[in-house]
Amino acid sequence: MNMPDLRNAPVLVVGAGIMGAGIAQVAAQAGHGVKLFDTREGAAAEAKTKLAATLEGLVAKGKLPAEAAAAAVARIEPIATIEQAATVSLVVEAVVERLDVKRSLFKQLEALVGPHCILATNTSSISVTAIANGLAHPGRLVGMHFFNPVPLMKLVEVVSGLQTDAAVAASIFELSRAWGKVPVHAKSTPGFIVNRIARPYYAETLALLLEQAAEPAVLDACLKAAGFRMGPCELMDLIGHDTNFAVTQSVYEANFFDKRYVPSLVQREMVDGGLLGRKSGRGFYRHGKDVPAPALPVALHDAPATAHEVTVHGGGPIADMLEAAATKALATQGWGPARDRESSWTGLRIDGARLVLTDGRTAQQLSQSMSVADVAVFDRPLVVPAVPGTALAFAVAPQASEAWRTQAGAWLAALGFAPLPLADAPGLVVARTVAMLVNEAADAVLQGVCTPEGADSAMKLGVNYPAGPFEWLAAWSATGVIAVLEQLDTHYRGERYRVSPGLRRLA
Ligand code: NAD
Repeated sequence: MNMPDLRNAPVLVVGAGIMGAGIAQVAAQAGHGVKLFDTREGAAAEAKTKLAATLEGLVAKGKLPAEAAAAAVARIEPIATIEQAATVSLVVEAVVERLDVKRSLFKQLEALVGPHCILATNTSSISVTAIANGLAHPGRLVGMHFFNPVPLMKLVEVVSGLQTDAAVAASIFELSRAWGKVPVHAKSTPGFIVNRIARPYYAETLALLLEQAAEPAVLDACLKAAGFRMGPCELMDLIGHDTNFAVTQSVYEANFFDKRYVPSLVQREMVDGGLLGRKSGRGFYRHGKDVPAPALPVALHDAPATAHEVTVHGGGPIADMLEAAATKALATQGWGPARDRESSWTGLRIDGARLVLTDGRTAQQLSQSMSVADVAVFDRPLVVPAVPGTALAFAVAPQASEAWRTQAGAWLAALGFAPLPLADAPGLVVARTVAMLVNEAADAVLQGVCTPEGADSAMKLGVNYPAGPFEWLAAWSATGVIAVLEQLDTHYRGERYRVSPGLRRLA
């Protein structure tokens, strides 16, 4: 196929809803003449009026020159019939998420536009290969997956189906760049990159809630302390449980009911009960003007941390951080910790007790394998060195003494954390979630869905993760991540925690 020159080429956007309006704005601001079509009468004109008001708002705030706003608005032409767009070089479709509707729309378009016009779909979950099936020239159909809100979100997944012409994908990649976006190539597979790799962020929290390991506010606090902008419960409340559940179900079904992606009973019960999150006033949290934020449980750390002898175990940045923190904590008493860099575990030996960084084993298992009753396990600090007051989950072995139950929290507090007690679940919260995100990303790369760099950019720009999965992996280790996954696998059995061969290859 001869590639059209897309610079300043006329564009048709079909569907003037949330996404279509945003795409029309971005294209018009990049200098394209944009024809906007929607089957609902008046929808395209309404979208243009709204968009003009948005741009005026930016002008009023001094964020956009008045002339640029006026020129962008003037470039948008709502059209009453799709036939008025026969001469465009690119179509971006953003209509309802239904395969039959998208297929028949593209068939209609194919008969209308010129042979070199590129056809792009903004579908978030339908196979690009399937949408192209039945077209005379399926090679010119490509996914151009924007994120909501389109003018603000930088990521565009450029999705190739089985028959997508590589030059067509390359051309949309370049165009996305010209529109100020960061494009990432993706292969058409369920969830593409972001909606696939992000599944465990919700799923692990839902699994912990199902077994009553902690309250939503605790899980949110732990993951926000790890750098995530919103906790999974807050985020599901924002997205809407109906939407989040539908995406989870579609990824699950599209993967032939692979148990790795199985949706959660916790979420289905909420959807069935109409507890949809912010939009219904209640989800995990109550929403409304006068509703106070939920209180976090207070760990038993009010008592002073005491010891006669402290040894910091392990090598690496987390052990170094613990040594610095223990040195500071003990300085007031005029002594400092010893260090055992060659130890097989990371953490603190505090007299006869052990405060251990999670390797996926529960405190109970660690206690048994170390033949020590007073054991507590703490979650993986993702940001090292940790900011003082960072929330961190911990669990105490059931066989521990009452005194150690108090001291474990007291010691974590003395080391500068805000300890949050959790049930004795393998991998606690952050280690477990991040291990699963890394595993999913490794699997996506193994299957050629994206490159490691693509996965990192997509997760940082599409869902605002503080780092990409391969960046976490570089700071941790493939063997460490696999150890956590294998403990989860042993603990729960089933397919959910199976290690990706892609991750094993990296170990
Ligand atoms: P929306 O409901 O806000 O808008 C869809 C618009 O398409 C409506 O105005 C509707 O009248 C119009 N429409 C329906 N059938 C049509 C047809 N045959 N021809 C022309 N117009 C038609 O939906 P949205 O949220 O903007 O989503 C649109 C697409 O973008 C979907 O495929 C969706 O999966 C995808 N998407 C949505 C988001 C999101 O966060 N909302 C993010 C990424 C991708």
